[in-house]
Amino acid sequence: KALSSDEVIGRAEADNVRFINLQFTDIFGKLKNLAITTSQLETALKGQIMFDGSSIDGYKRVEESDMLLKPDPSTFQIFPWRTGSHGNSARLICDVCNIDGTPFTGGPRNILKKVLGELKEQGYDYYVGPEVEFFLFERDEKGNPITKIHDDAGYFDAAPTDLGEDARRDICLLLEKMGFEIEASHHEAAPGQHEIDFKYDEALATADKITTFKLAVKTIAKQHGLHATFMPKPFRGANGTCMHINQSLFKDGKNAFYDEEDELGLSQEAYYFIGGLIEHGRELAAITNASVNSYKRFVPGYEAPTDVAWGICNRTPLIRIPGSRGVATRVELRNPDPTANHYLALAVILAAGLDGINNKISPPPYYDGCAYEMDEETRKKKGIKRFPASLNEALDEMEKSQLVRKTLGDHVFNTYLKVKKQEWREYNEEIHQWELEKYLSLY
Ligand code: GLU
Ligand code: MG
Ligand code: MG
Repeated sequence: KALSSDEVIGRAEADNVRFINLQFTDIFGKLKNLAITTSQLETALKGQIMFDGSSIDGYKRVEESDMLLKPDPSTFQIFPWRTGSHGNSARLICDVCNIDGTPFTGGPRNILKKVLGELKEQGYDYYVGPEVEFFLFERDEKGNPITKIHDDAGYFDAAPTDLGEDARRDICLLLEKMGFEIEASHHEAAPGQHEIDFKYDEALATADKITTFKLAVKTIAKQHGLHATFMPKPFRGANGTCMHINQSLFKDGKNAFYDEEDELGLSQEAYYFIGGLIEHGRELAAITNASVNSYKRFVPGYEAPTDVAWGICNRTPLIRIPGSRGVATRVELRNPDPTANHYLALAVILAAGLDGINNKISPPPYYDGCAYEMDEETRKKKGIKRFPASLNEALDEMEKSQLVRKTLGDHVFNTYLKVKKQEWREYNEEIHQWELEKYLSLY
C-alpha cells in the first residue's frame, strides 16, 4: 500500500492534485507545513526543498538556519476536505534534514525513528494504538472559540442529548478516506467530550496518524461551527482528556507480550517493559504531559491515573493491562495526553520499556485496589510513587533523567526544558481568578 516517489508523482497527476502540503512538527508537537505546487513535487521528493529552521520552535539558530524537508512518500494523502474544481490538495509528512542531507537530530520524527531502529536490531516491532479524546466548544458569531461547552451529555449517551454525533460521524468518514480503520466513536464521560478510536499500527505510522487525526478533528469541528480542543482539563469537576497509549512488542510476527502459560497471560518481556515504565514513569511526564494544565487531570475520581503503579483492568494507576490476550495483549499507559509531542512521547515511552527489558527491571506486584483511596502509609509500604503533581515537578524529574536525555539528544532535551520552564514561570507569576475569589475578601 505504501507508495514510492514515482507512484506519488503518478497519483498526484491522476488525481488532479495542485497543491501539496509538506508537513512536519516542531519540538512541541505543533504541526507546521509548507505548501508547494505540483510543479515542485519532484524536487520535493528528492529532499531538496529548503526552509528557515530558525523560525520553527526548537529547531536551529538564525546563523545556521537553512534546513531541508525530506518527504516520506508512504504518507501521501489527499485532503478530502480540500477538493474541488481548482484541483485537489494533498500532504506528505516529512523528515527534517540538515543542509548536507543528514537527519536533523532535533526532528521529532527522526528521534522516534532512531529508537525504533534500535528496537529493530533486537528483533522487535513496536505497535501502538492510541485513544485520543477531545472536547467540543462553541464559537461566537465571529467564529472565535468561546468557553461554552457544546453539550451536556455523558458517557455513551445518544443523540439528541449528544450534540457531537454529526461532527464525530463526519470526522470518522473523513479519516476513513485518509486510510484510517475506525474502530469506535462515542460521547465521553464529561459534557462536550468525545472519543474516536482507530486501529493500532506500527509506531511511526501511528504517530503520523495522530498528526492527521488532530488536524481532521479540528478541521471538521470548525466546519460544524465548533471548536475542538485537546486541552487536557478545560474545567474542573469532570473528566479530562487523555491520549492512552496501548502498546505491544511483536517478534517474528507474534505478540511478544503474550504468554499463555503465565498466570496473567503476560510474557517476561511484558513484565520487564512494565518495570521500565514504572521505573521511569515520572521522568517521562514532562514529555507525555506537556502543559501546565495537564497536571490538573491527575486528581482522584476522574479515571485519570494518580500513582505510578500498574493494575489489571484497573483504571486508577498509571498502567493498565486490558482484558484481551493473544494477539491483542497490550500494556496501556494511561497518563499521556494530547499536549504531548506524540513522536517524542512514543520515543521516550518505548525507550523506558526497552530499558526495562534490557536491564531486566521487574515490576512491583500489581495493585488491585482503587489507587484513589490509597493512603500515604500504604503508598510508602508498597513503595508506590505519586505521578508528578505539576509541570514544574515533572520538569525537575526530566532534568535528572539520563534516559530522556539520551533518547531525545542534547539539542531537544535542553531546548525543551528551557522553553517549558519559562512556560511554568509565566503561569506561576500570573494571579489567577481563583486566588482573587479565595483571598480578596478573606484577607
Ligand atoms: N478521560 C479519562 C482520563 O482523563 C479516561 C477515560 C477512559 O478510560 O477512556 O484519563
Ligand atoms: Mg476514553
Ligand atoms: Mg483506554
